[in-house]
Amino acid sequence: MPRLVLASRNKGKIKELKMFLAGLPWQIPSLSDFPEVPEVAEDGANFRENALKKASAVAKALQIWALADDSGLEVDYLNGAPGVYSARFAGEHGNDAKNNEKLLALMKGVPWGERTARFRSALAFVSPEGVAWTTEGTCEGIITLAPRGEGGFGYDPLFYLPEYDLTMAELSEEKKNQISHRAVAMRKFRAYLLNEFPG
Ligand code: IMP
Repeated sequence: MPRLVLASRNKGKIKELKMFLAGLPWQIPSLSDFPEVPEVAEDGANFRENALKKASAVAKALQIWALADDSGLEVDYLNGAPGVYSARFAGEHGNDAKNNEKLLALMKGVPWGERTARFRSALAFVSPEGVAWTTEGTCEGIITLAPRGEGGFGYDPLFYLPEYDLTMAELSEEKKNQISHRAVAMRKFRAYLLNEFPG
């Protein structure tokens, strides 16, 4: 069975990515299975650049096809911030509680109509020889006035979806995985894999 490695150590992300790839004839380890692979600096100008950087470094190091997702939140009132800084918005990498606190503080007093935002996911799939394929997905929403919900991760409790009257953290896992930015991008990737590697 061919192998593709998920170029991530983020447990929430790995779980979601594996779910989207369920049933495909691929073995799918993640970086958690390869602790020797060093961290890749996420210093690209946008999500696509970071995804390409991560997948390329991992494909080269392990000589296996690698899939990377670089994702984050873009808030219109903040001119697209936190963007590529989403994971480390409040300074410390991956501190969701502090990131959410900072976002709410910056959005204090901003009227409902000006709180529009989107999650964006860029995917890069890179061969051991360095040949790359990329795609993107987005999901539109509104930044809430206070956190709501226990599901998901990251900014999910602050991301309100008007058509469901729920935050992303209040959606069932199943529903999030139908409508999220990552779901949109991963549907394209799944179709690409099935088309390019019919087995
Ligand atoms: P990455 O691991 O560099 O792609 O950083 C992703 C960061 O963006 C996470 O730490 C979260 O703060 C945010 N993020 C990405 N996807 C989601 C999501 O589905 N829900 C909530 N936050 C997300």
